[in-house]
Amino acid sequence: MAAGKMWGGEPFWGLGFEWDPQWVLTERQKALQATLIELCHTELRVNAIESDRNRVYPRKNFQALAKHGFLGLIVPRELGGLGENHVCAAMVVETIARYGCASTAMCYTMHTGAVAAALLRHHDNAALKDILKRLDKDCLIGTLSYSDPETGSHFWYPISSGAEETKEGWHVKKKASWTTSGGFADWYIVQTTSPNFNGNYADLSCFLILGDEASYDPASWNGLGLRGNQSGPLEINKVVPKNRLVGPVGDGARSNDEVVDPFFLLCSSACWNGIAMGMIDIAKAHTTKKTHKDVGMRVADYPTIQDYVGEAIIDTNVVRSMDFTIARALDDATGNNDWSLHKDDVTYLPRAGLLHWLWQLKFAAAKNVAHVSDKMLHACGGTGYKPELQIERYLRDAKAGWVMGPTNEVLRQFVGKASLLGFESLDYWNTAINERVLSNEIKKMDAEAKRALAERILAEANPPAARKTA
Ligand SMILES: Cc1cc2nc3c(=O)[nH]c(=O)nc-3n(C[C@H](O)[C@H](O)[C@H](O)COP(=O)(O)OP(=O)(O)OC[C@H]3O[C@@H](n4cnc5c(N)ncnc54)[C@H](O)[C@@H]3O)c2cc1C
Repeated sequence: MAAGKMWGGEPFWGLGFEWDPQWVLTERQKALQATLIELCHTELRVNAIESDRNRVYPRKNFQALAKHGFLGLIVPRELGGLGENHVCAAMVVETIARYGCASTAMCYTMHTGAVAAALLRHHDNAALKDILKRLDKDCLIGTLSYSDPETGSHFWYPISSGAEETKEGWHVKKKASWTTSGGFADWYIVQTTSPNFNGNYADLSCFLILGDEASYDPASWNGLGLRGNQSGPLEINKVVPKNRLVGPVGDGARSNDEVVDPFFLLCSSACWNGIAMGMIDIAKAHTTKKTHKDVGMRVADYPTIQDYVGEAIIDTNVVRSMDFTIARALDDATGNNDWSLHKDDVTYLPRAGLLHWLWQLKFAAAKNVAHVSDKMLHACGGTGYKPELQIERYLRDAKAGWVMGPTNEVLRQFVGKASLLGFESLDYWNTAINERVLSNEIKKMDAEAKRALAERILAEANPPAARKTA
């Protein structure tokens, strides 16, 4: 029996609270968690099946969440939100993914990232404040539109996007290759190169774009998993008012490091952990029921199955502990998620100092859920392969973890390179010259090849127009 955990008035059929790190939560957060589990029972989990089967955007689930104030979870109470912290944000995403709907959990992750980007710079911005105050009342779903078709998962490098100042405001042009909640969100935080772009891709700016200012074709979305997410390409070509600039011109890299990356990495990791726990719950329910008459044993009685489940719980709880420990560190660094600390100083970036921990977290959570989902499928046998048990949906949803940017390949390299060569070696915007590689390649050339290269470089450094005026 699941200790203390209820599911529609009955004891929960999966793992009980004795396997959850409940000690990280306040009493109020435990009450929010209980409300969420009940919402998952009555609405979110049933809707997950429909979302997956027919690629239905989970607005119904967001409406249910909005009724209880969850869209404004991290919004300060003076703006009408619940005023909650990073630990709570991680708990909410994990709970939605585990008991309810993984697509909703990912849309909620992106919503929370967008809310954080707005909160960082809302202090003197009426447009941002207006949205933040109405999140739950009007069920206003936000999202982050960053990834660029030209640069793949290097979402910090928006080659196809830009913005110009006009008399009326800003002319924002954005081409996004992927946007969770694309076409269904009520507002977007988008990143472009800054107005008066001079070739420096580190100079980025963020804008608030309303739902009807973006164009999106729902038919363009079709993914292996997270099928309710609507993460297809999005396009914006619109002049928007002056107060749609989020923070000052050139604030994009700071916003990335301080809120967009931290909230995405923390909450998406919680989503992968929730999916892993959700699969273990199903495996428990199935393997303790299914019996093999010939040997008189349940599947759960085989030591192999016990080993699978034991290892899956241990590995997942290691990553969950890491998620909540880092969330606690973010709370400690920010006065328990106090947004007023950012009011007068745009260079105050306490979360950014923990970014390399969040990289490790996302890598570990995405790696773990891929492994756990394989093993829980194996534990449930052929029955798990069929949709009815819901293991196969979780398994497909889980696959998004590794490939979502920053991808696990990129994160593994960030951590290895930064630890060995220093953070400055990461070179996000491809501007640092690697003299070692250059010298090594030149060393391989004979005299003729060197002369040809030198001539080519001279011609590039001194094009005909420049030579005339010199
Ligand atoms: C379900 C889902 C939802 C998404 N939602 C959003 C969203 O809301 N907003 C948003 O902005 N984006 C979103 N994305 C996009 C995501 O963050 C990535 O940008 C996208 O998955 C990259 O796909 P790609 O085919 O361009 O990969 P590519 O970047 O082409 O990667 C292909 C391979 O190359 C590897 N690779 C790439 N760069 C390097 C490197 N420097 N070193 C080593 N290996 C490298 C990758 O790890 C991968 O193995 C979403 C993606 C998914 C799957």
